[in-house]
Amino acid sequence: MIPAQFDYEAPATLDEAINLLAQDPDGTKVLAGGHSLIPAMKLRLQSPQMLIDLGTVPGLRGVRADGNQLVIGALTVHADVASSDLVRKHVPGLAEAASLIGDVQVRNRGTIGGSVAHADPAADLPVILTALDAAFVVQSSSGNRTIAVDEFFTDFYTTAISANEILTEIRVPLPGARCGTAYAKLPHPASGYVVVSAGVLVTRQASGSCTAARVAIGGLGSGPCRAIATEIELQGKPLTPQIIAAAAAKAAEETDPVEDSYASVEYKLHVATVYARMAIEAALERARN
Ligand SMILES: Cc1cc2nc3c(=O)[nH]c(=O)nc-3n(C[C@H](O)[C@H](O)[C@H](O)COP(=O)(O)OP(=O)(O)OC[C@H]3O[C@@H](n4cnc5c(N)ncnc54)[C@H](O)[C@@H]3O)c2cc1C
Repeated sequence: MIPAQFDYEAPATLDEAINLLAQDPDGTKVLAGGHSLIPAMKLRLQSPQMLIDLGTVPGLRGVRADGNQLVIGALTVHADVASSDLVRKHVPGLAEAASLIGDVQVRNRGTIGGSVAHADPAADLPVILTALDAAFVVQSSSGNRTIAVDEFFTDFYTTAISANEILTEIRVPLPGARCGTAYAKLPHPASGYVVVSAGVLVTRQASGSCTAARVAIGGLGSGPCRAIATEIELQGKPLTPQIIAAAAAKAAEETDPVEDSYASVEYKLHVATVYARMAIEAALERARN
């Protein structure tokens, strides 16, 4: 199928893009890599009257450190997140997640902003960004606001971004000493999207006990789900294989998956505990080094 007819604008500045969007927020879509929006338009699941191409807007791409945060421009493509020295050094779990998205073409066109704004329940980046306690900066004609990750993903394909707002950057707190991050994914064998995945940020004391943990599970609901029971089980405990296994066994407690043509509910729940354990162990190993 071909998309319904639409107008196309390629603004030269972010202000111009915001002003164009303000004219008809509900009839307009911003275009990033186009790897989710264009297929949806071809299937006529989306029929915006106007597309605003962010590809011509300067300043939205790249990774930089700002104080104790990593700032990733919304238009940064997955390949650049995966290969960024800053990301690999400070949050290797994020580089890992970006490197597991789709194939080379998808990683060279798809953007971090497009991925989180699209909020596919089977996407990779929402899961690791939830574990990393990221925040999302959006801009409209009324100014800026920052949305915490725990308030950002609100439903299937739905976020807290308003129709008149453009996501400009993703802010990731830089993990401190003895912190480790990791991401583990069971991909669907045909699509490569997430069947189940786990993102982890863990902090350990010199003694080996866990000071803090954030664990997020993907693929089992409308979006990333915090595994609060797992986090509680880890905190303050010595990180022995037995305690990690007991904590990971609770990883799917807050989820409510549905069966699909690939996997049963029972299988998804079991795999979540396995991938949670793998990600916790990998994050812990990095926290040691
Ligand atoms: C073959 C294939 C395989 C894939 N495999 C995976 C996979 O394994 N894992 C995975 O996570 N993803 C996968 N994807 C999705 C891919 O990561 C997309 O790049 C991503 O979902 C959307 O990013 P985009 O830059 O292409 O956004 P677009 O398609 O341009 O936009 C998507 C949506 O986000 C909105 N949007 C985009 N940027 C902004 C912004 N800055 N502010 C506000 N709204 C914005 C758009 O208006 C649109 O509604 C795959 C895609 C394809 C085609």
